[in-house]
Amino acid sequence: MELCIVHYNNELNGSIQCPKCHCGNLHHVKVEIFSRQEDKGEVFNTVFSKGTQISIDKILEASDNPSSRREGLKIWFTCENCDLYSALNVVQHKGETLLYWDDIS
Ligand SMILES: [Zn+2]
Repeated sequence: MELCIVHYNNELNGSIQCPKCHCGNLHHVKVEIFSRQEDKGEVFNTVFSKGTQISIDKILEASDNPSSRREGLKIWFTCENCDLYSALNVVQHKGETLLYWDDIS
């Protein structure tokens, strides 16, 4: 899996650019929060989808968590200009916070 770095448009209030077509018209449609104590097997996955659905699930398989050992956040976006449906990940990793897009290929 190849990860995409995040690009900003400094001329338009620092808006995030679409990783596929590079326009600045993105819409966030879903947020997933992965809450986990360091290295614990269980993860709480909280999902907010388009302001109407909320779910909280305890999951044992952390494969969807972008962090291999700690907390993670996925913000799902669509683009007005192309068929993008991808997640921007905010990941806790060894005392650092990483920011990257899911693979869009
Ligand atoms: Zn796009």
